[in-house]
Amino acid sequence: MTENNTNLLKTLIIGSGPAGWSAALYTARANLEPVILTGMELGGQVSLTHLVENYPGFPDGISGQAMVEAFQKQAERFGTKTVFDVATEIDFSERPFRVKTYGEEYLAETLILSTGATPRHLEVPGEVEFTGRGVSYCATCDGHFFQGKDVVVVGGGDSALEEGLFLTRFANSVTIIHRRDELRAGALLQKRAFENPKVKFIWDTIVTEIVGDGIVNTVKLHNKVTGEDSDFATDGIFIFIGHIPNTELYRGKLEVDDNGYLIVDKYMQTNLPAVYAAGEVADSHFRQVITSAGMGAAAGMQAIRFLEEHEA
Ligand code: NAP
Repeated sequence: MTENNTNLLKTLIIGSGPAGWSAALYTARANLEPVILTGMELGGQVSLTHLVENYPGFPDGISGQAMVEAFQKQAERFGTKTVFDVATEIDFSERPFRVKTYGEEYLAETLILSTGATPRHLEVPGEVEFTGRGVSYCATCDGHFFQGKDVVVVGGGDSALEEGLFLTRFANSVTIIHRRDELRAGALLQKRAFENPKVKFIWDTIVTEIVGDGIVNTVKLHNKVTGEDSDFATDGIFIFIGHIPNTELYRGKLEVDDNGYLIVDKYMQTNLPAVYAAGEVADSHFRQVITSAGMGAAAGMQAIRFLEEHEA
């Protein structure tokens, strides 16, 4: 602690998804004694994933939650301090950078930003009103509430199909509503979805309103090709239409691309020296646990190098 009660750190990591934990592991093993601010959700999006099957080393898959627990345990074993708090303000104007949280203020020689991304909303009437009452963004979290029910999934990407297929474990039927007549999802998921008798498709169609009586019972649809409007009865609506990067803290301070993702170079450095970004906040393309973890490790290694080069 410094005189003014501000914690002076070599490295502060903001966000506790796979990128954050990997950065913590690498910087902790270099004795930087990193602090990781978990944010509101420990583990980020992967902690809500039922089963991760594409992370090397787990031939039978591993639950997202178990994976996050293991990440945390491993990072803490080497001296990472986990703080359940949320960064609210960052002053990037001089180094060490000043970071305010709900409970503390930190000064950090290097920053690793791994604040991830949040599911995109449809922004139609009824969506907010019925969230948690039939509207969901997480099949793993809410799928079991729909045992024997009929649900719709909105989206045509990997998430929509993967989560839609997961929902067939519980639901009687899963109708995927896509705004085009061609899916964006990969070939294997498409094959699985087309072969699953519980999965149906509605093409060229958008949801214009979510309607219910206490809980969701109908979605209003608009066919973009025929112009036809219709009502579709459903017990639930799962929305998987992409993500928005969590960059509010950096707005106007760090460079972002056209979609709002932080821009990093191949060393994971943002436009500011000693400020690195890793994981989905800086990656709209791959968005995998393994790629986020790789970016986190790289960011950690660069923070270590930066301090080696700049410490007296
Ligand atoms: P995505 O690939 O961006 O797909 C979003 C889908 O939602 C698209 O089909 C898009 O339609 C549709 N959409 C977007 N805005 C919409 C709106 N306002 N109304 C209706 N539909 C809308 O997002 P994602 O599926 O979450 O995947 C993100 C990334 O993670 C991808 O790179 C994906 O490969 C990866 N991922 C991989 C796996 C896996 O490998 N197992 C699993 C999940 C995600 P259009 O197609 O018309 O644009």
